[in-house]
Amino acid sequence: MDETVTPVDGIQTKGIETQDYILERAFERLSLKPAQCELLQSSFRETIISIPLQVMEDGEQVLKTFTGIRVQHNHARGPFKGGLRYHPSVNLEETRALAQLMTWKSALVDIPFGGAKGGIAVDPKGLRAEELEVLTKRFTQKMAPILGVHQDVMAPDMGTNPQVMAWILEDYSKAHGYTPAIVTGKPLEVGGSGGRLEATGYGAAYVARLAVQDLYRSVQDAKVVIQGFGNVGTYAAQSLAAKGARIIALSDSRGGIYSESGIDVSAALRHVKKEGQLSGLPGTMPVSNQELLALPCDILMPAAVQSVITGDNAGDVKARLVVEAANMPLTPEADRILTERGVVIIPDILANAGGVLTSYYEWVQNLQQFPWGRATVLRRLETRLQSVYQTVSEFAAAQHVDLRTAAYELAVKRVVHVIALRGF
Ligand code: NAD
Repeated sequence: MDETVTPVDGIQTKGIETQDYILERAFERLSLKPAQCELLQSSFRETIISIPLQVMEDGEQVLKTFTGIRVQHNHARGPFKGGLRYHPSVNLEETRALAQLMTWKSALVDIPFGGAKGGIAVDPKGLRAEELEVLTKRFTQKMAPILGVHQDVMAPDMGTNPQVMAWILEDYSKAHGYTPAIVTGKPLEVGGSGGRLEATGYGAAYVARLAVQDLYRSVQDAKVVIQGFGNVGTYAAQSLAAKGARIIALSDSRGGIYSESGIDVSAALRHVKKEGQLSGLPGTMPVSNQELLALPCDILMPAAVQSVITGDNAGDVKARLVVEAANMPLTPEADRILTERGVVIIPDILANAGGVLTSYYEWVQNLQQFPWGRATVLRRLETRLQSVYQTVSEFAAAQHVDLRTAAYELAVKRVVHVIALRGF
């Protein structure tokens, strides 16, 4: 093992606030013993590496050292699985919480994966493509001892994309032979799956449609507000618009746009391609990211970053349904306020599970060396999400709890059961 790899097994972690608060509720409802809770809140392994890289700055080569992280939380139900994030704010505490979230998400949708998350503290937009490739391949070389098709499988997350996955595949394959199943979310040409790119957004839109129909109305002409217009937000917007929903507001990190009569999502995509931002789309009014969250609508879908709805602004939310397409977009305080007000929240481990579900389908296709085709993948995605949504909502109704409490209880119970069966 490379000396710069510093794995530490069995670390007792406390995830960030949101995770702790939800988990403690699930542990209590399941009457788990303190030792079981300690195990479930511990990372299996946390690996931190340094990655030196020569980068061009003001026409000169300078040496920079980046920090790479991989947190493997739990692999009771299958190989560790989770995204790789490139963002300047990547840190150990956040990565731990996101790794835990993956364990519960995989368990909830009942796929044979555990949970992990990784990242590099870097602004990918600040590097040239060649630099990003070298950075990614060095990260892969140093992490290789803890990766594997049946050990740990990465996927894209914020700041990474199919190209980054192709670089990882290439580097890993040098030492292990052609291994497409080492990552998911790859380009189609190197074993990627039809439907994977759009799966998270489509899945979130599909669950939103099920929930809004269950609650009070058809999605036809339902007013929708989406924060974040990246991979998840764009496909969710397109999918909901195709089903007749009215997308009244959209935003990206630079601000938002609003039109009560509905935004043409295809025109918004063309505008972003040309201008690099949503702001300025003809026929729309500017709206800030804060104002956008408070717009009257049927479905509010945060699809950008975490903790955007807090104790300070939860009281302003006017949506009847909040669909957490982003991971952890609500703080515990916001969750409490909205739940008390009767706002229905589709928790992230259900709302954005389409991503990991389709990653699982990609992995299966790679292991079988037999591609299924996009239509098959998306049909399986909808069938599974429909059944998971139904299980969670029926359990919530029977137990008189909210959907998040129900989803976590079901997920944690599955992991606890397998740990007991395997005798960890
Ligand atoms: P992305 O990088 O493709 O897009 C992020 C979008 O959010 C961009 O439009 C960006 O401008 C916007 N944004 C960034 N900061 C913002 C801010 N402070 N306010 C408003 N908008 C902001 O990322 P993505 O892949 O679409 O992921 C979005 C969220 O969904 C993340 O929380 C991610 O963890 C989660 N998620 C993604 C996937 C997936 O398959 N891509 C799967 C599960 C969960």
